[in-house]
Amino acid sequence: MLYDPAWCDAMVTSICNDAYFRWFDSGDLPSLEALERIVEVCVRTPATLHWLPTREYAMVKAYITKHGRDSLPDNLIIRLSAMYPDRPVVVPASLRGVKNVLTSNVHTKGAVPAGSACGAPERGGRCGPCRDCWDVSVEAVSYPKH
Ligand code: SF4
Repeated sequence: MLYDPAWCDAMVTSICNDAYFRWFDSGDLPSLEALERIVEVCVRTPATLHWLPTREYAMVKAYITKHGRDSLPDNLIIRLSAMYPDRPVVVPASLRGVKNVLTSNVHTKGAVPAGSACGAPERGGRCGPCRDCWDVSVEAVSYPKH
């Protein structure tokens, strides 16, 4: 589906002018080409802020290597997801300082390892007014493990 020639057009139509869009409620980036197609959708939906969480650091690196450190569009934030709870993401050297590449952690009990604590659990699993994951000024967010 993602590789269907009509996929980008379909996504642009579906997102329309929504203010916020989250990629991959489940699953993750399957390939570099997938990320390239997502970027195309972002470029074609400039009124929408996009957030893409991923553990596929290598895929992001491949994109940046191919397209450049400033190549992600302004309206796409990629958050590198933590591999383990209570251990903040270590951004690979190749991705440090890359435009719009940020992080998200997971905490169990006690202190948040790094970043702004997600308040969705207190809102029945909804973001409510919070938009931290789409906010480029929020370097790290941290989700409670459930
Ligand atoms: S509530 Fe905020 S931090 Fe939590 S998922 Fe939503 S935008 Fe991200």
